[in-house]
Amino acid sequence: MRSKIVAGNWKMNKNINQTEALLSDLSAKLPDTDAEVMVAPTFVNLLGAVENLEASPIEVIAQNMHFAESGAFTGEVSADMLLAIGINTVIIGHSERRAYFGETDEILAKKVKAALGKNMRVMFCFGEELEDRKSGNHFKVVKSQLKNALFHLDAGAWSQIVLAYEPVWAIGTGETASPEQAQEMHAFIRNTISEAFNSTVANEVSILYGGSVKPANAKEIFSKPDVDGGLIGGASLVADDFIAIINGI
Ligand code: PEP
Repeated sequence: MRSKIVAGNWKMNKNINQTEALLSDLSAKLPDTDAEVMVAPTFVNLLGAVENLEASPIEVIAQNMHFAESGAFTGEVSADMLLAIGINTVIIGHSERRAYFGETDEILAKKVKAALGKNMRVMFCFGEELEDRKSGNHFKVVKSQLKNALFHLDAGAWSQIVLAYEPVWAIGTGETASPEQAQEMHAFIRNTISEAFNSTVANEVSILYGGSVKPANAKEIFSKPDVDGGLIGGASLVADDFIAIINGI
């Protein structure tokens, strides 16, 4: 059985005091759930978050990492640094990293390799732009993003991968893929993985949907058979909204 996951990507939001306050609120209100719940604060607040959540089932994850072991990479953070403070999962390939920080499929493949080499779990994000969908190229684009970053892996490595399909046109825009559009793409992704690897890998990988998930639409999106949860941006910054979304799973 694959895991259900609800993860909050806090991006460059919340200073240390705000981080503490939100984590305490989330811990106090967290419902009993079978889903794995994760939050991704900014780098400087990761250690504080790990300490704050010591007694909580909520997992703290990182928004990014560099592929090198260590060295002259000003402003960057390595897998070992994350592991040393108790972070075992990292988001790789978020569309904002691709769009604003020039992260190509080739760079992302290196990051995935580095994280898996340290036995970290990777939440790999991908998704088409609006023009791709309008021109009917969305399936082709998604397939090539997956192929370029993940299809060189051994089948065994997939137990450490979580996929997050995030159509770029739905991120932070208030425009969500319809539950049917999400299901259609998730089924395509699972089928593509089945063809590239095998049906066990495809059936066991969790595929999250991300893009303007809110309390009002979460339940319907999560009800689709190939949607195993969500990666949540804006709505994860408000405890009651994030809790409502977790309750939708
Ligand atoms: C995201 O950035 O991963 C995301 C899904 O953002 P939002 O929920 O705000 O669209």
